[in-house]
Amino acid sequence: AFASGRLCLPEGGADVLPELLAASLPAGTVHTGVRVTSVATNAVTTAEHGVIRCRAVLVATGARSAAELLPGLRVPDFHPVTVVHHTTDEPPATGGHLLLDSERGGPVAHTAVISAVDPSRAPAGRALVSSTVLGPDRAGVDDAVRRHLARLYGVSTARWETLAVHHTAEAVPAMRPPHDLRRPVRLLAGLYVCGDHRDTSTLQGALHSARRAAAAILGDLGTGRPMHTS
Ligand SMILES: Cc1cc2nc3c(=O)[nH]c(=O)nc-3n(C[C@H](O)[C@H](O)[C@H](O)COP(=O)(O)OP(=O)(O)OC[C@H]3O[C@@H](n4cnc5c(N)ncnc54)[C@H](O)[C@@H]3O)c2cc1C
Repeated sequence: AFASGRLCLPEGGADVLPELLAASLPAGTVHTGVRVTSVATNAVTTAEHGVIRCRAVLVATGARSAAELLPGLRVPDFHPVTVVHHTTDEPPATGGHLLLDSERGGPVAHTAVISAVDPSRAPAGRALVSSTVLGPDRAGVDDAVRRHLARLYGVSTARWETLAVHHTAEAVPAMRPPHDLRRPVRLLAGLYVCGDHRDTSTLQGALHSARRAAAAILGDLGTGRPMHTS
């Protein structure tokens, strides 16, 4: 996607997309903030709301939680990622372009003035620069990122403010060759699993595996109704 230049961001933040999907369903269909502690083909046990009976269960968590709920499921290795957010009132003049350092002259894999793409993500009147660092958490990452950003953007970053540094140790499942792009999503009739760990380690992979799982569920329930194709 980076090479072909077809990048996009959900306006307002990553959680807007699932919120829009949920909003299209009848009120009360989706419950959030509920932790599932165990699953069976006909019931889900939750930490807060007891047991919910059902006709089928689709586990759509990350790989590690899925393996806790479905013992025996493979847990892959993961790639760690750190995202550093800076604000400034003098944004670099790169507009909505993503910068990749072909010379790998520092820790930043890619960076962009995100507020030039989606102003709603930035503090009022300020520009937001978000930069991604691949690899394990390391001390002094902010200083190293600032030095690298100064070279990449060709501006001083000394007065930029650090808004947040988010490290995610298990950001994406590793895809070591030979990678299986179509891991099974139907474990048995009534029990299904989807997520980025069943397909490619991306949002696209998570969505694609969910579609495969939904088709399997509809088939097992014998609804005979085709899924939407648009
Ligand atoms: C910093 C960062 C940047 C990324 N950038 C990109 C990118 O640019 N492009 C891209 O394609 N991908 C990107 N990814 C990867 C992408 O976010 C994931 O591949 C995708 O979110 C996986 O979706 P999923 O539905 O499989 O799992 P998740 O999005 O992890 O959703 C799983 C959900 O299950 C919930 N859950 C877990 N356990 C339980 C339980 N016991 N009970 C109830 N709920 C539970 C979790 O709270 C979570 O909401 C990025 C990831 C990170 C961390």
